Amino acid sequence: MQFGRNEIALAKMPVLFVGHGSPMNAIEDNDYSRGWRKIAERIPKPEAILSISAHWYTHGTRIMNDEKPKTVYDMYGFPDELYEIIYDSPGSPYFAKASKELISREKIYDNSWGIDHGTWSVLVHMYPKRDIPVFQISVDADAPAEEHYKMGQELSALREQGVLILGSGNVVHNLRLVDWHKESKGFDWAYEFDEYIYGNILNRNHDKILKYNELGEVAKLAVPTPDHFYPLLYALGASRDNDKISVYNKSCELGSLTMTCYLWE
Ligand code: ZN
Repeated sequence: MQFGRNEIALAKMPVLFVGHGSPMNAIEDNDYSRGWRKIAERIPKPEAILSISAHWYTHGTRIMNDEKPKTVYDMYGFPDELYEIIYDSPGSPYFAKASKELISREKIYDNSWGIDHGTWSVLVHMYPKRDIPVFQISVDADAPAEEHYKMGQELSALREQGVLILGSGNVVHNLRLVDWHKESKGFDWAYEFDEYIYGNILNRNHDKILKYNELGEVAKLAVPTPDHFYPLLYALGASRDNDKISVYNKSCELGSLTMTCYLWE
């Protein structure tokens, strides 16, 4: 086992941010799920996956080190088919411990959560075999943007060990303003905010992304609460200046959800 780990460590893993959108994407074959599959086909097979999901939003930073994390169904009123999905990949106590050592701020182990739909709705498409260890780190609701970014920087060293760092959220996520009749089109402010982030990611102006609030009203509409936005900051922090950046699923859904994904490799 040790030999396998060292061998894979030669390949530096990319970092990924995914806009996950509706849980229905887990069971649909659409542009988004096809985009996610394309990413998995393109990148090296990870030794483990560290997911920072918008849906594990806690006080303080928590790290899951379960051997066998349970599947969490943290969404309501969807078809039965979604609640029958079990994403029973193994956990990764080994990389959970490595993460705990890399993060400098206060953090604890916590196995009260599991693999939530922010993670499994994407991974059922990317890695349907469920043979890659997966663990999650929570998003601390009380930490400012810079702290999340810093944790991403600290965790970046896992890339050398073959760990895929996956942030799962949405750049624009306003459920209160979802327009079910708008289909694939977005509100002007949703496109404006998504473009702002897009431009600053491609130009590596991370400071502008951390100060997204300076956009005023547009930022308030796009990020009414930061749970779906903060996972992007972990991926940004874990990215490196010499990474090549690719963009997938750049689009807006139901008026106020953008699905844009970023891959740094
Ligand atoms: Zn979500």
